[in-house]
Amino acid sequence: MATRIMNVVRKPSKCPVCGEQVWDIIYGTEGMDETTFMLQYRKSASMGGDVIPRRPPIWECSCGCMRFRKVNPDGTDAPVRVKLLKNVRRRPVSLINWESPRLIEDMKEGGHAVHHNYRVDIVTECGENVEFRVTALDEEDAKTTIRDIVWSIDLGIRGLRCVEMTVTESPAEHGSYVINPEYLR
Ligand SMILES: [Zn+2]
Repeated sequence: MATRIMNVVRKPSKCPVCGEQVWDIIYGTEGMDETTFMLQYRKSASMGGDVIPRRPPIWECSCGCMRFRKVNPDGTDAPVRVKLLKNVRRRPVSLINWESPRLIEDMKEGGHAVHHNYRVDIVTECGENVEFRVTALDEEDAKTTIRDIVWSIDLGIRGLRCVEMTVTESPAEHGSYVINPEYLR
C-alpha cells in the first residue's frame, strides 16, 4: 500500500490523521531501516531509500500513515533540500539508555533488586572515547552489559572491544531512548 502524501506549508507538529509524531525523511539510505538508523545515529527518522522522487516529500508520520510535501501558501511546490544520510551527524551514544539483561530478568520476577543508573566511559581498541548510559543492578553488571553491546551491536563506532572502562552513578539523559538489548537479537 502506497503512503498518502499531503501538501503542507510547514512541518506539522503532529500527524493530522493519527496524531503521532512527524519525522524527517532521510534519503540515500539504501537498505537501512529505522531501528538501525536510530542505533547508529541516535535520531528518529523515516528511511526514504535511494530514489529521490521528483517532488519529494520531506516529512513522514512516525506510524507511516502519511507523508508530507512542502508547498508555498499558493499551493506551488516550495524549494526543498532533501536530507541525505551522508550529511546526517551522529548524536552521542549516551542518548541511548541501555537496560542490563539481569535488570530485565529482575523486572520479570517482580523487580525486587535496586536499579542503578550508570554512566560508563569506555576506550575502544581503536582509541575511541565513548560515553554510555545503562540501568543495571551493580557496577559489574553495567560493565558486562556495555562490553557485550560494544561487541555485538553496530553503533557506528569502529572498536569492538573495551580496553578501558570507568563506571559512575549518573541519571539517564533527558529524552534518551531506552533499549533492552534483547530486543535487538
Ligand atoms: Zn500517522
